[in-house]
Amino acid sequence: MICVPITAITTGVALQDIQQAEEVADILELRVDYLADPDLAKILTARKKPLIVTCRKTDEGGKFPGTEAERIQLLEEAVRLGADYIDVEWSCGPEVLQRFKELTRGTRTRIISSWHNFQETPQNLGGLYTSMRSAGADIVKIVTQANSINDNLKIFDLIFQAQEDDQEIIALCMGPHGEISRILAPLLGAFLTFGSLRQGKESAPGQIEARSLRDVFRVRDLKDTDFRLYGLVGNPVNQSQGIYLHNRAFQHLQQDSLYVNFLVEDLASFMRGFKGYICGLSITMPHKQKIMDYLTEVDPIARRIGAVNTVVKRKNKLIGYNTDITGAVQAIEAVTPLADKKVVLLGAGGVARAIAHGVAKQGGRLTILNRTPGRAQTLARELFCRSGGLEEIQNLEADILINGTSVGMAPQTEEMPVPESVLRPGLVVFDTVYHPAETRLLKEARARGCLTISGVDMFLNQAAAQFTLWTGLEAPIEVMRSVLKL
Ligand code: NAP
Repeated sequence: MICVPITAITTGVALQDIQQAEEVADILELRVDYLADPDLAKILTARKKPLIVTCRKTDEGGKFPGTEAERIQLLEEAVRLGADYIDVEWSCGPEVLQRFKELTRGTRTRIISSWHNFQETPQNLGGLYTSMRSAGADIVKIVTQANSINDNLKIFDLIFQAQEDDQEIIALCMGPHGEISRILAPLLGAFLTFGSLRQGKESAPGQIEARSLRDVFRVRDLKDTDFRLYGLVGNPVNQSQGIYLHNRAFQHLQQDSLYVNFLVEDLASFMRGFKGYICGLSITMPHKQKIMDYLTEVDPIARRIGAVNTVVKRKNKLIGYNTDITGAVQAIEAVTPLADKKVVLLGAGGVARAIAHGVAKQGGRLTILNRTPGRAQTLARELFCRSGGLEEIQNLEADILINGTSVGMAPQTEEMPVPESVLRPGLVVFDTVYHPAETRLLKEARARGCLTISGVDMFLNQAAAQFTLWTGLEAPIEVMRSVLKL
């Protein structure tokens, strides 16, 4: 279930928020501690979906300004008024839990016994869970701060343990490293996950919008399926478009598959902990080289480039590929064949390396120019082609000009890697930068009669190639394009 917390500060706004939240929520959580004028009777009468009444203590991340006696009184009132659930902190002690058990006997109200740790995810959560369960919690809730991606595994273990015990549990990790638990917990068997009504209405760090949980990650559709897990491994990952593209493509082709962002610093621990969970990965900076240490096989061209951006699991073997090469080549060859064309490539970084190998493989006559000519020279030596500094563009004749530098990328959208004077009619200009989708270089090139290719095409092609490697299916590329957020 998706639970939307109501964090309004007045009863009036809470009533409005509840009405909106009910469009997406299966269940609501009223954070009474946020309310300056709590009118529980009014709210409980108005709500159409089941409601958890929570009045969080300040030392557990809440905002309740009154005394402990007043707080407990509010929860007692919630039981009398017929709340579906009340949240009682485990830190109140087992006696308080017992009192509420007696109070709720014979009523509709069920007790969520909750425990929060805002610093870390400790190792020994199993013992805590057992104590909470033995004390008679209807639903055990354990929420911790994830300081690494592997902290989520401790939470997943708790969910599996609770399932074995037939015990309902809410178990999540907070913070950017814990985002995956908010998506995966309900799919692995947790009672619910929290999703915010909209940005700015979060009740805890790392909370995802409820609409994204439903529409992007499809937690409701995938529940009760044996879903296949994919994701992006990198640091940072929060600008990733993959979550939109791949999840939409999975949905379109009715695949029980899910794509999430794994924020990973320690690649070795991640690969050890998550290998059993994943069916395939996208790899981004800073792990594109290091990932090769954890793979059974690496495609020869990816090995030559020295970078893997796609991992596929086949029969428990992990195989690495680089789809930037096919992504770029397909984008160019949709406009013009590369064979025997004079190609000037600007840049000698990661993307330029992949493109240079792709162009050489297709028979393009390549010259590599870079701000730091030494780096261009190193790459050119591998491919037996010419190299130089960026200024040499003035003296070169080209059929195809490729920008493989980061010049022109947001926020420096007014910058160009070459002067306008080199943009003559008939030249094919491909800018790998895809944020913005149309760079200044492409605008100027079009205005001067050049044929232009956007980095968006390369980006979509490489994502589509990943999708095909993972699923064996043709990627619905136009469906993927329609959900790009650039
Ligand atoms: P990278 O490894 O850091 O390489 C950056 C390249 O840009 C280097 O050649 C660098 O030259 C050059 N450069 C940086 N600032 C410059 C400046 N002010 N003037 C001239 N040259 C400059 O980065 P990358 O991973 O290759 O990414 C490069 C660009 O590719 C990114 O901006 C991104 O937009 C784009 N990209 C596109 C796709 C796609 O699918 N379309 C995928 C990934 C990346 P030095 O060697 O002199 O430092």
